[in-house]
Amino acid sequence: MNAVTEVRTRFAPSPTGFLHIGGGRTALFAWAYARRFKGTFILRIEDTDVERSTPEAVQAILDGMRWLGLDHDEGPYYQMQRMDRYKEVIQKMLADGTAYPCYCTPEELDAMREAQRANHQKPRYDGRWRPEPGKSLPAVPADLMPAMRFKNPLDGVVAWEDRVKGRVEFANNELDDFVIARSDGTPTYNFCVCVDDWDMRITHVIRGDDHVNNTPRQINVLKALGASLPEYAHVSMILGDDGQKLSKRHGAVSVMQYSEEGFLRDAVVNYLARLGWSHGDEEIFSMQQFCEWFDLDHITPSPAQFNTEKLKWLNHEYIKRTEPTVLADMLKPFLTQAGLNTAGGPAVERVAELLRERAPTLVEMAAQAHYFYVRPAPDAALLAQHLGDAARPALAELKNVLPTINWIKAEISAAVKAQVSKHGLKMPQLMMPLRILMTGQTQTPAIDAIMEVLGQDETLARLVA
Ligand code: GLU
Repeated sequence: MNAVTEVRTRFAPSPTGFLHIGGGRTALFAWAYARRFKGTFILRIEDTDVERSTPEAVQAILDGMRWLGLDHDEGPYYQMQRMDRYKEVIQKMLADGTAYPCYCTPEELDAMREAQRANHQKPRYDGRWRPEPGKSLPAVPADLMPAMRFKNPLDGVVAWEDRVKGRVEFANNELDDFVIARSDGTPTYNFCVCVDDWDMRITHVIRGDDHVNNTPRQINVLKALGASLPEYAHVSMILGDDGQKLSKRHGAVSVMQYSEEGFLRDAVVNYLARLGWSHGDEEIFSMQQFCEWFDLDHITPSPAQFNTEKLKWLNHEYIKRTEPTVLADMLKPFLTQAGLNTAGGPAVERVAELLRERAPTLVEMAAQAHYFYVRPAPDAALLAQHLGDAARPALAELKNVLPTINWIKAEISAAVKAQVSKHGLKMPQLMMPLRILMTGQTQTPAIDAIMEVLGQDETLARLVA
């Protein structure tokens, strides 16, 4: 691609909370599209809502994006730092006649809307300050600062080929002359987006479809500015398991919460990638693969459904495929958080290797790892339930044999089996008491593997029955 057709995408969050799943997916799509075409991905913080925007929320977005691995090439730009630029553009529009001052007071606007409602009309600005050739405007009030309105075309349609939704069309007479700057001089959200997309030479606007209704206004402003139009791809919203719009009710909606709950970054990215986009039947693919495949044509226009169970399944697939050494590094902070001191215990790598088949998240793996680092207090009742008289001599003998063998799984297993057959037992008659003594539980990975990882000394110390 040459410089003229360079793909430039942006993620433009409003920093009013954390980076939620929907925002994360939008960011991922915009990022991947830029990566796919070796373009530029821009981060823009839309912080003009000063009441709701906070530095903590900006940080939460940056943290969330860093965790997802979505690096930006430009920015972050902050709209609050671009006020002079917006004012400059407004002056230009006033000079060009594409914007005009409106001196309506809030009371007047209320009365206007009331009258329209009473007449069963849609409430809208009636254009009373809109200059037209031959039209005389009201007298300018002496002590009022005007709002600035965009002079929207009166007729015709504004339409675009949405890359997700197909052709979308609005009649211009449905759009009134919206305020681009309030009477205190602050530019409005819909206007700032236009100036930014223009200045930042955005080629593809990939965003949530809650913005579809803003697009015709933005297109009209961009046209008035003489800007070339970006392509638009409005991605449908994400629904929860129950078909309702995804919200806190559905559990974690913050990207970082998944990190805290022990989901792997690559699994979450993979899952988000499949939320509303597909590449044939591919379910499990790397971020790099995603960047090679991602296109706008395979984003589905229908809402995507968030399925926590599927995410968990996918996470487990990733855990199972992660090298034990790598997995160990991921697991360590979760072990610490679970209050486990690994010093002096088995190598975390070996524990991770044993548990990865049965732990779908790192939090669950850390919970399951407990008995490797804390010797379980023998539960007499549980042991009594599983340790019959027939198995007692076998257990005692095993205790004598184990110190003499090479501490590898095959020999441990052979030693246990030898006792089982020597004493005419069934496997579980010896395995279950062993399992309870080693782990305090009845459900664990293979007991010979556990004993191997626990080590000879620790195994013998636990064989107290
Ligand atoms: N700031 C908007 C939001 O967080 C996004 C605007 C846009 O992408 O054009 O929903």
